[in-house]
Amino acid sequence: MDIPDIDCLLIGLYGDIKTGKTSFMLSMPKPLVDFDFDQSFDRAAVRALSQEAGLTYKKVMPEEELTDEILNNYDIIVRCYDMPLKLPGMVLEGFVDLWEGKLIPEFLKTLNTPKIKSIGIDTGTLFWTVDHQAQLERVQRESTNKARQRLLPVEYARPNTEARSLLGAARNKRKNLVALHHVGPKHGPGYETVRRGNREEKVFKSDMLIGETWSGFSHLGQIVDVIARTRVEQGCETCGTTFADSPSTRLEHGTHKLSGSVVPTLEVEHCGYSLTAGGLKFENPTFEGLYNTVSAMRLVDATK
Ligand SMILES: [Zn+2]
Repeated sequence: MDIPDIDCLLIGLYGDIKTGKTSFMLSMPKPLVDFDFDQSFDRAAVRALSQEAGLTYKKVMPEEELTDEILNNYDIIVRCYDMPLKLPGMVLEGFVDLWEGKLIPEFLKTLNTPKIKSIGIDTGTLFWTVDHQAQLERVQRESTNKARQRLLPVEYARPNTEARSLLGAARNKRKNLVALHHVGPKHGPGYETVRRGNREEKVFKSDMLIGETWSGFSHLGQIVDVIARTRVEQGCETCGTTFADSPSTRLEHGTHKLSGSVVPTLEVEHCGYSLTAGGLKFENPTFEGLYNTVSAMRLVDATK
């Protein structure tokens, strides 16, 4: 059987802050361009880390331009953007300029730079915010209600298409991509318990809160190859495993000897290349480790 190698991997990663998302992104093949909307990024740490590994590092400030010269001469490029201010009831300004004027052309320029191997989006949550707020800004301009605060479902068509096209273009251009997302609520069909007088009843709801997922572009799962969640877990020496720290898991490991250190973990929730890879958990995850495992499991799945 002839199965070509995976030449690029697109990953959607979500997790709380300080669970290793940025470290994972920085482990992607270089040169790497990180589109940074989130000012929480610890640039001092990135600089230290890149210098330690002997890599060249360039931070491109919001008022600067991402030039071909920069794209062709550094190992790690962090492209910073300022998020426009948004207050309730305000007429939007700056989202269209940021999205159409900077992000789209600079993203395409990066895709068209053969030397660049990987793209990070920090965060995909804010990337999606800029995308749909740009659409709301256009709608406000054309509407008699200048302060309209919400898009109608049909008005999401354009931002959806744009996000899908940009992220999908990474695959066509053989770039690796890691989009980091915040954690958000997951809605879906389920049964809700409601009280009627003294009785409790299960009532079907098509859109109830059923868990957690990535916050941002909801179609991400159809575009990327892997959706994974990052957590910081407690190491247990007795079991030789790690576990997400909560009162119930603490109870389970009651008398066990905990290693005392916390371990960043990555759990694959969905993998388009290999069904078997779903549920796999990595400690101290790296891009290469995930890539190698997905490649190997894909071949295993193919021979079944
Ligand atoms: Zn244990």
